[in-house]
Amino acid sequence: MKKLFKSYFLLAAALTLVMAMLCGCGDGAATGANADNGAATFTTVTEGKLIMATNAYFPPYEYYEGDAIVGIDAEVAQAIADKLGLELEIQDMEFGSIITAVQTGKVDMGLAGMTVTEERLQNVDFTTSYATGIQSVIVPEGSEITSVDDLAGHMIGVQLSTTGDIYATEEFGADYVEQYNKGADAVLALTQGKVDAVIIDNQPALSFVAANEGLIILDTEYAIEDYAACISKNNPDLMNAVNKALEELIADGTIQEILDKYIKAE
Ligand code: GLN
Repeated sequence: MKKLFKSYFLLAAALTLVMAMLCGCGDGAATGANADNGAATFTTVTEGKLIMATNAYFPPYEYYEGDAIVGIDAEVAQAIADKLGLELEIQDMEFGSIITAVQTGKVDMGLAGMTVTEERLQNVDFTTSYATGIQSVIVPEGSEITSVDDLAGHMIGVQLSTTGDIYATEEFGADYVEQYNKGADAVLALTQGKVDAVIIDNQPALSFVAANEGLIILDTEYAIEDYAACISKNNPDLMNAVNKALEELIADGTIQEILDKYIKAE
């Protein structure tokens, strides 16, 4: 009886080991990365790294300077990685692919001037918010669209899968919304008269208007939103660690410093 128990025990232990190995490979998540930031232990996709997904065409939150991705989100992520003792790796992808990359465990977090929405919360968890975004409307100078109330019946350019896209499609119907992969492409279409207005976050809107003659931003705001980082629902330990780091960075003024560096007061 005793011997039988022992062999069952060994069999169970072996099975547990095999299961653990299978699970580790199957979900594409942790390859054994464990870090200790004082409180809880957490796991990342690659040991010692914090892999962040973004779409690097969203100045001043993320954009290319030569080969490097820089901007508010790059600096916020670097500050979080430093606190957690991890090396930051930034992966550039389409905005619409970020949540899937987080959900499927290909990256540790998404940080992309991303707005917290009810719909996205069904698929990922969001950290504490670190910035506010405003959906602005860009029109050509002299446009008959002078406030958000004039938008109905006009062609609106948006960046695919963004809140500007989601809200405009809901409110005005898909026939009136033209989707572009990059915000800059929507603005280019506006300068070419292919669309009548572009709905996009206010900070990139300011950059695009500065870079293109003859465009203005309407005084009336289309929506006010919270930006946060998204993390897999399956990784609450990483969520806690990132949130703890982020909240410390908010409390000690680091986040405000980063925002002020890129966003000049008017
Ligand atoms: N804030 C917008 C959103 O979350 C746009 C973000 C972006 O284009 N990077 O949908």
